[in-house]
Amino acid sequence: MSKRPWGYQPQPERPDPTWELHQETQSVRAGLARSGFGETSEALYLNSGFTYASAEQAVSSFADEVDHFVYGRFANPTISMFEERLAAIEGAEFCVGTGSGMSAMFASIACMVKSGDRVVASAAMFSSCYVILMEILPKWGVEVELVETNDVKGWTKALSKPTKVVFIETPSNPMLDIVDIKMVSDLAHNVGATVIVDNVMASPVLQKPLELGADVVMYSATKHIDGQGRVLAGAILGKRSYLEEHLSQFVRHTGPSLSPFNAWVLVKSLETIGMRVDRMSQSAQKIAEFLEARPEIKSVRYPGLKSHPGYEIAQKQMSGGGSTIGIEFKADQASVFKFMNALRVIDISNNLGDSKSLITHPASSTHRRLAPEVRAEMGITDSVLRLSVGLEHYSDLLKDLEQAF
Ligand SMILES: *Cc1c(COP(=O)(O)O)cnc(C)c1O
Repeated sequence: MSKRPWGYQPQPERPDPTWELHQETQSVRAGLARSGFGETSEALYLNSGFTYASAEQAVSSFADEVDHFVYGRFANPTISMFEERLAAIEGAEFCVGTGSGMSAMFASIACMVKSGDRVVASAAMFSSCYVILMEILPKWGVEVELVETNDVKGWTKALSKPTKVVFIETPSNPMLDIVDIKMVSDLAHNVGATVIVDNVMASPVLQKPLELGADVVMYSATKHIDGQGRVLAGAILGKRSYLEEHLSQFVRHTGPSLSPFNAWVLVKSLETIGMRVDRMSQSAQKIAEFLEARPEIKSVRYPGLKSHPGYEIAQKQMSGGGSTIGIEFKADQASVFKFMNALRVIDISNNLGDSKSLITHPASSTHRRLAPEVRAEMGITDSVLRLSVGLEHYSDLLKDLEQAF
């Protein structure tokens, strides 16, 4: 075989900065591991396996005695770059990338519970999370109790009994209900529970659950982390002890692994997440205020509006209202559909957190799977639309909405 060509030279490691780097700097620098080619941008290692210099090196790699990649289900250099970068942005001790947000949500809970254990969750949530909690886990003997987002008495009562896991989605999808992360974490820790937060709607830019007392954060990276409608992915972040005692073995053997290609897309997306989410949130605030003043609208749900029942808590725990708005029309479903069909810029689509503004009718799409009574409890009537505000100029979006009315 030929000599290693093209001047491959393992890069000497530079000393780390002596000061703490800002989030913007971490977003473009953290986790970067250059190969001997010295490429500027993060490389895509699209491989499932790895080779060893000797049989002995293979043995010690498998025994975790040396740092050497073993198999794509466990780790891969491109995936590790994404994980390190997201962990730095979140301020977490570890990050595990997964193939989707749902595999992250499922693994984060399933790695901890066994038959007879109890899970408490906030009632307003994404429909697939609801199916895992209310249909799949109970089938395996896990008891699940739901609490209304803002019901302090309810939380106190539910968390007076031994509990293994507390799962909260705040803001919730699609009605943007807010749970007080610190209040629930304090109550949960009194009974020894691990608090897992679905932070999809806020993103790591606007809310840091670990700083507020939560133990674990999970993402659908499909949303703001990619934010450009390209790949499906998820992530679980938190304390090293949770990784070592629960998650690590579970994901190694059940295989919810992220693809290296998707990790490569995501590691670049993280470079711009701060700018994107801040801009989307600023535009969403203006659009929410505009919608609230329209006579056709019954109510607007947006954490940055004073009319939101969770406004005070949102002010405490979020640095912006986020990109998503829940809109309840006075009209019936047929008129709401007419409104959607009249839009010229905003697309009809069930994704969110995207650079393109998207509108969806949750009752017939994302939350269709829920029973009508459950939807009604979550406030998802047939007259509700969810608007995910993108990166277009906000005045074009206002014009689009105005002409559709
Ligand atoms: C989209 C979403 C998920 C699921 O993520 P996928 O990447 O689609 O699997 C989970 N939670 C919330 C709040 C979401 O919006």
